[in-house]
Amino acid sequence: MKAIQMVDLHSQYLKIKQEIDYGIFHVIETSSFVKGGKVVDFQKNIEIYLGVKHVISVANGTDALQIALMSLGLKPGDEVITPTFTFIATAEVVALLGLTPVAVDVDYDTFCLDIQSVEKAITPKTKAIVPVHLFGQNANMEAVLNLAKKHNLFVIEDACQSMGSEYIFKDGAKKHSGTMGNIACTSFFPSKNLGCYGDGGAIFTNDDELAEKITMIANHGMKVRYHHDVVGVNSRLDSIQAAVLDAKLPHLNSYIAARQDVANFYNGAFANHKKIIIPKTADFTTHSFHQYTLKLIDTDRDRLIAEMQKKNIPVMIYYPVPLHLQKAYQDERYKGGDFPVAEKLSKTVVSLPMHTELDTEQLNYISENFLKIIADC
Ligand SMILES: *Cc1c(COP(=O)(O)O)cnc(C)c1O
Repeated sequence: MKAIQMVDLHSQYLKIKQEIDYGIFHVIETSSFVKGGKVVDFQKNIEIYLGVKHVISVANGTDALQIALMSLGLKPGDEVITPTFTFIATAEVVALLGLTPVAVDVDYDTFCLDIQSVEKAITPKTKAIVPVHLFGQNANMEAVLNLAKKHNLFVIEDACQSMGSEYIFKDGAKKHSGTMGNIACTSFFPSKNLGCYGDGGAIFTNDDELAEKITMIANHGMKVRYHHDVVGVNSRLDSIQAAVLDAKLPHLNSYIAARQDVANFYNGAFANHKKIIIPKTADFTTHSFHQYTLKLIDTDRDRLIAEMQKKNIPVMIYYPVPLHLQKAYQDERYKGGDFPVAEKLSKTVVSLPMHTELDTEQLNYISENFLKIIADC
């Protein structure tokens, strides 16, 4: 049996080696390393894939979130709502810009922000909501967009984990994750649904004015060379990464289907177990299974992880500490117990290996060992 990894990028590469190698060598041959043709091609292709008007590529997903926030013209003290159960970058950029991150709890079934918590957190200072489409399914965007409209707020989607997922509106209309808010951000970190071979990210918007501002901010705040109209940053996707991504984009749908197959296998193996709650997909979204995350009931999680490791099966905890309990984000506004769902999840979740290259032998090995081990934990 092939060694089991959380993510197996090498096996995936071997299947598309020719396309990737050709793309990378083409960039080197043309020596167009920065803002080259491949970056332009990839941006166009992803615009078509998503059905979004503007794609602005940047250096990584964290930069994407930061630049998106910078484009809104917010002032210190303005409040930005983020779920407390997410990767740190979502709130980090809010704090970094001198804005006030406001934490909200998440929904137990979907891991995404809880609408009632959002509604309660809105004040006259609230300027934006950042829903995170965690683990690959969309947050309840119809409800978020309605709240945003009612209170005149910006919506910035954190779509770093949900590339390729679709949202299903009540009237049956479908939209890609990352095309519903004023702005959306994604990451092309190697392990993401659409990953490059280093760092990369992108910003999506249908708003012409915001697109122009975002493009300027990502390029030192300039439109005309050496004339700087706003304070910006230097954040760009390099051409080699764009070549990798452009070669992988045509495979994204099949990669998502492979992830869904793995999830279906796990669901079948773990359904109706008294110590395991399998992931639930809300009826308003498809699920691209960036992560496959179980909730454990009355289980010694540390022991389970140690025993799985003895069998050479990696498992991870996404995420062990909610943002409001992180040392860097200690704040007199929050204390333990304030966000009970996020706190409970952080103590009971476990994520299993999830990628496009898992085979039946590996899946059987993982699930059989997991069931054996959990019986004693
Ligand atoms: C990966 C990720 C980011 C950051 O992306 P980077 O490219 O690593 O900077 C932000 N938010 C979420 C939810 C992520 O999963």
